[in-house]
Amino acid sequence: MTVTRFAPSPTGFLHIGNLRTALFNYLIARKTGGEFVLRLDDTDPERSKQEYADAIQQDLEWLGLTWDRVETQSNRLERYEDAAQKLRDIGRFYECFETPVELDLKRKKQLNMGKPPVYDRSALSLSEDEKAALRTERGNGHWRFKLDLERIDWTDGILGDLSLDAASVSDPVLIRGDGQFLYTLASVCDDIDYGITHVVRGSDHVTNTATQIQIIKALGGTVPEFAHHSLLTGPQGEALSKRLGVLALRDLREQGVEPMALLSLMARLGSSQPVELRASMEELIEGFDIGHFGSAPTKFDVRDVFPLTGRVLAALPFETVASEVAALGVPAEKGEAFWNVVRENITVKADMAAWWDLFRDGAEALVEDEDRAFVAEAFAMLPPLPYGADTWSSWTAAVKQATGRKGRGLFMPLRKAVTGRSKGPEMAEVLPLLQVAPKL
Ligand code: GLU
Repeated sequence: MTVTRFAPSPTGFLHIGNLRTALFNYLIARKTGGEFVLRLDDTDPERSKQEYADAIQQDLEWLGLTWDRVETQSNRLERYEDAAQKLRDIGRFYECFETPVELDLKRKKQLNMGKPPVYDRSALSLSEDEKAALRTERGNGHWRFKLDLERIDWTDGILGDLSLDAASVSDPVLIRGDGQFLYTLASVCDDIDYGITHVVRGSDHVTNTATQIQIIKALGGTVPEFAHHSLLTGPQGEALSKRLGVLALRDLREQGVEPMALLSLMARLGSSQPVELRASMEELIEGFDIGHFGSAPTKFDVRDVFPLTGRVLAALPFETVASEVAALGVPAEKGEAFWNVVRENITVKADMAAWWDLFRDGAEALVEDEDRAFVAEAFAMLPPLPYGADTWSSWTAAVKQATGRKGRGLFMPLRKAVTGRSKGPEMAEVLPLLQVAPKL
């Protein structure tokens, strides 16, 4: 059975980049009838907050990305300690005492000599006495996993055949001096224990994957399939991180973005398949294939999600928005007619309010100077309220008769005068919704 996971750290709100990772893992699990695990990577007690853990779940629920189980790393510290002990027992884990400043100096020296800044493993040659002395002097050391210095190969679900020389990376630190387990150890233990079969994550994790493959093997686990999707950039290829403030999922929700619009876009953006608006999660699952994604950075323009949102709304049946329509103050008997008139003329639900204001209070007439007399004459010919389904046709027929105007020259000035806009719903449907007679 396929088991995937989405593993955010509850140190902030989910953003559009996280959504991509969550969605791909979700779709793979659902497409194969597998399991989707939500894992909260909260090994950093200072930065992890319950508020963010709650917000992550709310955001995923809003999108409809349901998970089969949720796991929290901070509940599993004993398991990570066992794994650490196993690595010690098999000679793959060693304690180091360099300070950040010393490590930085080493890196600079290596770079100056034109060498890759890889940890030199000098702690490996410390005797037990030397370590004891350093512990007294500096406190507990941090622990590094001793990589086997060989090539690490895997076939990536997106990037194809990858090969990384373990000698080109530092032995990863898995436990900090203060005893905090780091993400890599916790993640590897979890992936093994939850039987994760497919790990899809951003290409910023490629090097992690190489070292994690060795750690998984050292712990006797089965190496999952890996796929690394490209990172999102802004529309001009700029780093998205600077703009995360506006691209948090909750901000998009606040701005009225519809989940299916966002999901439809993100399930295809960066792939060789065109973006298609999907009506349901089932269709989205059906049409997804990770094999169509490429390695090039994926440009994301938040503006693209609004036309899709408009299309989602245009297709919504009245029942789904009835309470929101009623909340605007639209009388119950007019609710459905109102929705049918506005739904193709809004981008987000909040746009409904302006239409209702217009129907309830009347618009400020938009009239060209040369049309003023014409509009005044036409308005004088309007029957009394309320207007019915035929009012528009009978009224414009009468106005045509009286003024000799026809076609666009007849209809457009009336549309603009009645609605204050040059575009909008069928006028025949607008008139019955008007609560006040239009005036100049
Ligand atoms: N918490 C990690 C992150 O958000 C998870 C990475 C992973 O998928 O392993 O980057």
